[in-house]
Amino acid sequence: MLLTFLFALASLQAPSPPQVQSISDLSQEFTFYMDGRFHAQYLKGVGRDARNWGSLHRLDLSNTNLLLLEDGDPHVPFSPESIAHVERYVREGSTVLLMADGGDPMPPGEALVAKLGGSLSQRAAEPPLSAVGADWEVEFRGGRVLEAGPEWTVLIQDAQQRPVLARRKLERGFVLLGSRGLFGHQPDAKDPINARWVTPLLVELATHKRFDPSRAHERAFAEHARAVGPLTLEYTDGTARSADAIAGEFALVRPHLVALTGVEPSPGMIRQLLILPTGKGGFSSGERIAIAAWWGGYPDRRYPMVELIAHEAGHSWVLPHPEPMWNEPIATYLGILVGRRLEMPEAGLTLERQIAAGRRHDPDFTRVNPLEKDAPRDLVWGKSFFAFEELERLHGPGVLAKYFQTKRAIVPAGRQGYSMDDCVAVWSRAVGQDLFPWFRSLAFQVDAERTDLE
Ligand SMILES: [Zn+2]
Repeated sequence: MLLTFLFALASLQAPSPPQVQSISDLSQEFTFYMDGRFHAQYLKGVGRDARNWGSLHRLDLSNTNLLLLEDGDPHVPFSPESIAHVERYVREGSTVLLMADGGDPMPPGEALVAKLGGSLSQRAAEPPLSAVGADWEVEFRGGRVLEAGPEWTVLIQDAQQRPVLARRKLERGFVLLGSRGLFGHQPDAKDPINARWVTPLLVELATHKRFDPSRAHERAFAEHARAVGPLTLEYTDGTARSADAIAGEFALVRPHLVALTGVEPSPGMIRQLLILPTGKGGFSSGERIAIAAWWGGYPDRRYPMVELIAHEAGHSWVLPHPEPMWNEPIATYLGILVGRRLEMPEAGLTLERQIAAGRRHDPDFTRVNPLEKDAPRDLVWGKSFFAFEELERLHGPGVLAKYFQTKRAIVPAGRQGYSMDDCVAVWSRAVGQDLFPWFRSLAFQVDAERTDLE
């Protein structure tokens, strides 16, 4: 019954053939927004998207009709080959959307904008913005105006009638150039500003080119991959110069993580290390950890990179049972401990700063339940770090390793769910003492009755 019903539902919702086959580029700059959120906000009902992780000039664009680009990370110039590739793509009939703002210095995307006949400027757009010849409502998150010559049609202008979004035809295709501030930003895709006119505009321009919807629309991945010890190191032309150094940092960090946790990463985890073209962020999907090539000012500053690598790797260490509330704090705490073992003074400072920030919400850490839904982030993190440090002081040395070893020993991989009550049960077993009262004295509302782990 259920299957039949689901099948019927699926066929009702089967989308009509996509009008837009887009590529979101992550090779000039990685952002979580471009990794699916732009598509969710503007193209979900009308198009299919694939992500490009590899160098732009190597990308097969033949069966697509829209390329989505931001103005790029300052460390990754648009190569002459990539610029020529995009220009050819447009001339042959496709559309490129370039979300770009001038600055000092100019972003790398300026070189591509120039080749396509436009120019960015450093002058701030002055609200309110308005549509030219259309009754679109325009929302704007701030940005710069453009320079657009007579071959451009201005679509959105600022209060001084200077262009903020413009389009031009270039042979058989189109360029749409506008400030990044006209589009959403939220990582959860909940701010699809201007979607009411952005979506039809993208469809109108992109559908000038036909593509074959029956052909697979596959992502292109980082083009360089090679073995470094037990890892496959993945990178592009644009991140090549950071890749070896970061792989070296990982090799340095890894044994410290093994020492701190007392266990190897969970089976099958951390096979790939992907270098992301950005100074911001990273992620772990368990098997693959992805690290921002210039995180925290790397390579000039090393501590933030060591902390990030240990953090992302730490996510793979805790699987298949991440600690619910502690998922992020415990990963960063591992980073801090690795930094401490490497005698980096920033590690201790980071720890003290976070504990102090937590105390602003709960001076002696006995009042606010960090498991409360609306508990402030600083409280959750500060109190967690405080608890980990106290556990080490009271039950150490090496108490974290005892916790991880106990967890591996008594929590089966196939177990459904892992709650904070389960966590405290594991901690208790690890130190040989019932820690529920102690955690409750710190206002963690945990309960031994709710766990079946002894
Ligand atoms: Zn994380």
